Amino acid sequence: MKSKGITSSGYGQLRWVILLLSIAVILPTVCLLWFIAAAVRNERLAARQKLINVYGQYIAERNEKREEAEALRIEKINDHWERADGRAEDFFISVIRDRLEKDVMVCEGLVVVNGDGERIFPTLATDTGEAERGDLVFQRAQSLEFVDRNYTEAFSEYSQKARTEDEYIRFKAILGQVRTLVKSGKRREAIRLCREFVFDEKHRDSKGPAGIVFANAHILLANLLIGEEQVNKALLQKTLGQLLFIIDRGRTLPTDQKLFLRNKVYEIARSHPGVNLKSPYDLDHQRISEAEGLSIRVAESYPDMRQFLSWPEGGYQLLDRAGADVYGFRHGLWLIIRSEEQVLSELKEMYKRFESDQVSYRIVSNTGEYICGVGKPEREVFVKSGLGKGFPAWQIELYFKDGDIFESAASKQVALYTWSGALVIILILAAGGFAGRAVGKQIRLNRLKNDFIATVSHELKTPLASMRVLVDTLLEGNYKDQKQATEYLQLTSKENERLSRLIDNFLTFSRMERNKQTFEMMKVSPAAIARDAAEAVGTKFNDGRCKFDISIDENLPEISADHDAMVTVLVNLLDNAYKYSYDDRQIKLRVFTEGGSVCFEVADNGAGMSRRAAKKIFKRFYQVDRSLSRGSGGCGLGLSIVKFIVDAHKGTISVYSKAGKGSTFTVKLPASKHER
Ligand code: ADP
Repeated sequence: MKSKGITSSGYGQLRWVILLLSIAVILPTVCLLWFIAAAVRNERLAARQKLINVYGQYIAERNEKREEAEALRIEKINDHWERADGRAEDFFISVIRDRLEKDVMVCEGLVVVNGDGERIFPTLATDTGEAERGDLVFQRAQSLEFVDRNYTEAFSEYSQKARTEDEYIRFKAILGQVRTLVKSGKRREAIRLCREFVFDEKHRDSKGPAGIVFANAHILLANLLIGEEQVNKALLQKTLGQLLFIIDRGRTLPTDQKLFLRNKVYEIARSHPGVNLKSPYDLDHQRISEAEGLSIRVAESYPDMRQFLSWPEGGYQLLDRAGADVYGFRHGLWLIIRSEEQVLSELKEMYKRFESDQVSYRIVSNTGEYICGVGKPEREVFVKSGLGKGFPAWQIELYFKDGDIFESAASKQVALYTWSGALVIILILAAGGFAGRAVGKQIRLNRLKNDFIATVSHELKTPLASMRVLVDTLLEGNYKDQKQATEYLQLTSKENERLSRLIDNFLTFSRMERNKQTFEMMKVSPAAIARDAAEAVGTKFNDGRCKFDISIDENLPEISADHDAMVTVLVNLLDNAYKYSYDDRQIKLRVFTEGGSVCFEVADNGAGMSRRAAKKIFKRFYQVDRSLSRGSGGCGLGLSIVKFIVDAHKGTISVYSKAGKGSTFTVKLPASKHER
């Protein structure tokens, strides 16, 4: 069975191989791409996680530092408490005068309670309730003084009360006397009376409500003195100095009273140059006053401090009843008061390192209120963390200013993955390509081998069978006469010749396929090649059924060629011309030059072929018309051998043919350069 081109089973096989190869290439490629994508994604996640960890660590460090500062604050307050030995006021003053660092106060205010939750600092004038008692006693006197403005009557009313034993009532009455004297125009007397009262040594140790009245008397005296045309500065200084001593050393006045009086003292002193106050607290009076003010504000806003004992310890809370600008946290029996300004500036100082080119931060309080940092973050928060002890449920949030920071952190790795991935894909594709080619080649070889065996066995069988029949006939003596015997012998010889040619072709083809065919290139004469080829086919062509013309141009250039191989080329072409022509054969062999090449042209007037067929005839085992070829003893190898030899000579072969009109084959070989 002859095969024509690729068999259908060959196609099936090839399709399978291509499919398998595609899977072998595509599958790993897809897997690799998937792997790269996953790796890139993981790398980004890892970079993100790494940054989150690093920043989380930074925050933890900052929190720790802040907690240390907070612990130091408590430690300091504790020291002062121990030194004060229960004297809340001393404790307060020493805490306020202390510093954590230069310009950083330990706290800006304090409220101290005792074990029962009763406030022991700051004390308030209203705590005693003495004012109400006074109002009752002086009802008539005050009505005369303030409503009727009958100062003489009021004075005698006050004078009457001034003789009582009750210190508080007596003191209040004296002040009433002084006031009514002033109001009735007796300033000098008023000043004298007030001065005697203020500088009476007996009164200096007065405590409680009487002490308050006594202290107030100083301010009254000071006001009377500064109202004079000629201010007695020495007396004014003495008065204010004594009051300051009572305020700071006497420790008998309620805190709010002290604050009020101290402010008054300094106000008067400031407006009277030459009045110099000598107080150990001069330098700090401003700050102490502020701290007292803040502590009083909190104490007034939270009158019932018993509940304060149930507050969680150590956590800052906004003391919103005392105003939106005060924070406090409880430690034992103390409510440590911090101004919002101080708390925020400390937080900012502590966490400002999170404000950089890449990152911004934001602190949000336990109530979700914005505290500091970036107001409106544009990106999603990437790290959120607590502020640790002292600020329970407060949060610090970090944002990246540039959204692609993870990208840039991961990009190096991503680039590495992508490049190595691309390289591997290229390698896979290349390997797939090579494997495909190798397998394809193998399949082709296999197919060739099959075709070859099929063709060889078939083509050898035919001449052998006919030879055997002829020889058997002769051996058995089944012939009429000598003439018939000669005819049989001639037929046998022809079959033999055909067989030899076939075997020659097979051998050449086999050598060709194994790349074993070597050519001995040397300068040869094209005319000699043509003549030798003509001679080889001479016997056959001179059988009277063929008109054979040879035309060889004169002065042909030599060519570099293997003489015998080129003879084979021409013999094959001539042989074909003979085989595929009818009885009135006209075959021409022409050798001529054209454009620096030597052309061998074999033309016949035979069967010819279609243009489509002409394109395929140089393929192995291809035959246009099998029945015709079979009859003429071909196997479809002749022209492929011809093409192989011509190619090896760097020449070309072309065919011009028309079905029924004959064919012309032209072999063109380059003329040898050194020639002529
Ligand atoms: P084969 O041994 O069959 O002749 P070839 O390779 O020599 O094999 O030729 C291939 C086919 O080309 C032939 O089978 C034939 O059909 C066609 N062919 C070759 N030469 C000619 C020609 N001169 N005229 C017509 N057909 C030809």
